[in-house]
Amino acid sequence: MKALVYRGPREVEVTQMPDARIEAPTDVLVRITSTNICGSDLHIYEGRAPMEDGKAIGHENMGEVVEIGDAVVRVKVGDMVSLPFNIACGFCTNCERGLTAFCLTVNPGFAGGAYGYPMMGPYQGGQAEFLRVPFGDVNCLRLPEDAREKEADYAMLADIWPTGWHGTRLAGLRPGENVAIFGSGPVGLMAALSAQVQGAEEVFVVDRHPDRLALAERIGATPIDDTDGPTADQILERTKGEGVARGIEAVGWQAHDPQGHEVPNSTINDLIASVRATGGIGVLGVFVPEDPQSPDEDMKEGRLTIDWGTFFTKGLHLGCGQANVKAYNRELRDLVHAGKAQPGWIVSHHLPLDEAPEAYRHFDARDEGWTKVVLHP
Ligand code: NAD
Ligand code: ZN
Repeated sequence: MKALVYRGPREVEVTQMPDARIEAPTDVLVRITSTNICGSDLHIYEGRAPMEDGKAIGHENMGEVVEIGDAVVRVKVGDMVSLPFNIACGFCTNCERGLTAFCLTVNPGFAGGAYGYPMMGPYQGGQAEFLRVPFGDVNCLRLPEDAREKEADYAMLADIWPTGWHGTRLAGLRPGENVAIFGSGPVGLMAALSAQVQGAEEVFVVDRHPDRLALAERIGATPIDDTDGPTADQILERTKGEGVARGIEAVGWQAHDPQGHEVPNSTINDLIASVRATGGIGVLGVFVPEDPQSPDEDMKEGRLTIDWGTFFTKGLHLGCGQANVKAYNRELRDLVHAGKAQPGWIVSHHLPLDEAPEAYRHFDARDEGWTKVVLHP
């Protein structure tokens, strides 16, 4: 089958690899119809989350079930399914509590597994014609009859929409509260949509790319351009000096200033400054245990200097980590089906798999108009 594989920093290739197949009776085999490029894939692409040569990338997958193992009872051949990026067993102590991003079964010695990602287990990615889905009854979300018609919307269910929603839950957002979201990439935009759906009073979105800020504006969010001055000052100014009730980090450890200098602790400290006393912060952007290539001395060893004294004095709370997609994807699917949300509004490009290397190059450069790429193998 054809798949997009990692070769080395800024080098990906569409090549032939052995067909994905059923390996265990609980597996499901899916023919991929939509597979998105994620900001998380850029960490791989840039060589900052190094992956082995020849492994297929791709964890935001959707498609049609073409074969099921003997022990699969619920999923049927022909079903259109969305596949959470987390691979989960469904029966370990974390999965039973809904914390499927921290499954203890699928990636022994580590809490959590995913498709096509370093450290997340031996699973191939779905930027390919076919994908093996372990524990298929647990990991396939069946889609209704409008799956093909609303494919761009449903394709957002594998990762970024549930992830954005997770950010609002980690931050503790309640209806009528305001929230500031750092990062207007796909994840930040999905956090903004989630906050709007949940009745936030005002949603601020911080970035410096006008095209991405414009997308935030289209769903009624207030854009904040950090080239206009210190972000926390801008947020305090627009909230009568009070700050926001909630904050969401949707950037990660490669956070940088508008000139491109990496300052990994900047978004967290800006959030601590922007969120009012007793408020909450949800961190979705990825932070890694080590990155020898980071220009920041602390970050080389996974450390951040954060304004802990202010954090404590304000009585803030903070939650972080990979999103437990299964905790939200069913209800979010139903919002799409009911016509109450169109997360596919951020998709800028639908491309064949063969054009993936070009798409990576543009998305990585955050070129104007390249907000979210959906590949159709
Ligand atoms: P992205 O890289 O396209 O978006 C990040 C945005 O942040 C860019 O638009 C960039 O201009 C902006 N940015 C950079 N520095 C900034 C700063 N200091 N202040 C404000 N904005 C800044 O990627 P994405 O797909 O939106 O993903 C964002 C992060 O979320 C990545 O780290 C990704 O790995 C992570 N992620 C986490 C989960 C999870 O489960 N927790 C899931 C998916 C993605
Ligand atoms: Zn993703």
